[in-house]
Amino acid sequence: MIVLENIHKYFGQLHVLKGVDLTVKSGEKVVVIGPSGSGKSTLIRCVNLLEKPTEGRVEVDSVNLMGSDAVVAKVRQSIGMVFQQFNLYPHMTVIENLTLAPTRLRGVSVSEATESGLAYLERVGLREKAEAYPSQLSGGQQQRVAIARALNMKPKIMLFDEPTSALDPEMIQEVLDVMIGLAGEGITMVVVTHEMGFARKVADRVIFMDEGIILEQGTPEHFFTSPQHERTKLFLSRIA
Ligand code: ADP
Ligand code: MG
Repeated sequence: MIVLENIHKYFGQLHVLKGVDLTVKSGEKVVVIGPSGSGKSTLIRCVNLLEKPTEGRVEVDSVNLMGSDAVVAKVRQSIGMVFQQFNLYPHMTVIENLTLAPTRLRGVSVSEATESGLAYLERVGLREKAEAYPSQLSGGQQQRVAIARALNMKPKIMLFDEPTSALDPEMIQEVLDVMIGLAGEGITMVVVTHEMGFARKVADRVIFMDEGIILEQGTPEHFFTSPQHERTKLFLSRIA
């Protein structure tokens, strides 16, 4: 579903990604961990070309994304992304947030987008908040809305970049529970997170990034019982 090949990214002189190869199969759940500044966000943003690699190949669902902008725009619609900051439109109600992209970008009718939007809100436990504004919701609720909004585009891939890092501790689990539910449904997921309980439960593969490379990867089992590199061990000992 996703092929990243020899990805390099420079910001000016700063060499942030140093030849990353990553292939993600359809339906696979990949969790990306690593120290702050190691390039996790940059890498995940290369999947939908929010960052354009300086060098390398990006392929999503067999389409080369290093070509035309039109192709990128089209493929991006099949990739949902959820950020640390929820990024809901503050002047729109919850349901308006959910229907905007499908109606504008996908040509879905308002009634159809509303119907599917309400179903996704139901799934994240927020059906009764459809007419609320984001400011009337808790952080955990806003993040669940952000997930429902991404799902309402019917993506093939969901990217999550530290979706619980900005949340108060008591709200983290409600968001993780939604993600765990989603993982059970066969969608391809790439998740940057420090939530190791989530990684253990959901990940087919855990990737440890360090200084712009994938230093180590394996099953959660491998990772949490017999990490190979000193830096991996050190990182895990600090966050566990
Ligand atoms: P992580 O998500 O692992 O914390 P990032 O991918 O956000 O790491 O950042 C990796 C490095 O790239 C950091 O040194 C960061 O400061 C730098 N960086 C990220 N985005 C930009 C940008 N738009 N311009 C300049 N430097 C950036
Ligand atoms: Mg980051």
